[in-house]
Amino acid sequence: MSSSRPIYEIYAIKYAGPLISSVAMVLWNTEWEKKIERNYYIWVVRGNGETLIVDCGVAPPLAKERQIPGYINPVEVLARLGVDASKMKKVVITHANWDHINGIELFRNATFYIQEKEFNFWIKDPIAKKPPFLRLSDPAGNAHLAKLEGTERLVLIKGDQLIFPGIELLLAPGHTPGLQVVAVNTAKGTAIVGSDCAHIFRNYEEEIPSCFIIDMVSWMKTYDKLKSRVSSLDLLFPGHDIKMFTQYPKVAEDITRLV
Ligand SMILES: [Zn+2]
Repeated sequence: MSSSRPIYEIYAIKYAGPLISSVAMVLWNTEWEKKIERNYYIWVVRGNGETLIVDCGVAPPLAKERQIPGYINPVEVLARLGVDASKMKKVVITHANWDHINGIELFRNATFYIQEKEFNFWIKDPIAKKPPFLRLSDPAGNAHLAKLEGTERLVLIKGDQLIFPGIELLLAPGHTPGLQVVAVNTAKGTAIVGSDCAHIFRNYEEEIPSCFIIDMVSWMKTYDKLKSRVSSLDLLFPGHDIKMFTQYPKVAEDITRLV
């Protein structure tokens, strides 16, 4: 940790949940008979006069169509933290699954940062139109992303890249071809907003990904990489664990401070 680097705080913004599923869905091939609750989040990284949004969540039309339990427009939840979504300039898209990109249009003035590999797969690769991928993708979000290509509102990241002092995007494939996580300099050291690289903390603790995995071998290498980058394992945050809502200080309704 360099003390000269800015320090940021990370907030989990819960916009839906809890939803109940089999443990085997979020923990690959494990505890088929047991159930588990999960939430849906986006994240805010704030400090040094900067506010960075991580992922876009889901906009009201798709939430209605999918009848997502406990849904609140992410824009409303962000407002409780004093964040105006329409004024946000920087949004990291960790990966192009529906629950992370559908809300792109909620951030009308933002520049989006996505891995080029992730963009090319979901937007351009015909394999992404096959049923297992189609089920996780979002045609509306994809269309919006495609429209932004070539404009200054879309930045295609190649591998690991420092985007601001103390904030680095890390290529972390496995869950999807080009998922990226956000390594953040915090008061406790380097924390990682890992999004769906893991659905729950147990994925990391037990070295088992979720069932939504396109490349298990890559995932194992990604996990080693993230472990080597994070200051302690409890600073490596998953995408959907209810603990991010229940076990951290609440700063506003549906908002907790992770670090
Ligand atoms: Zn997700």
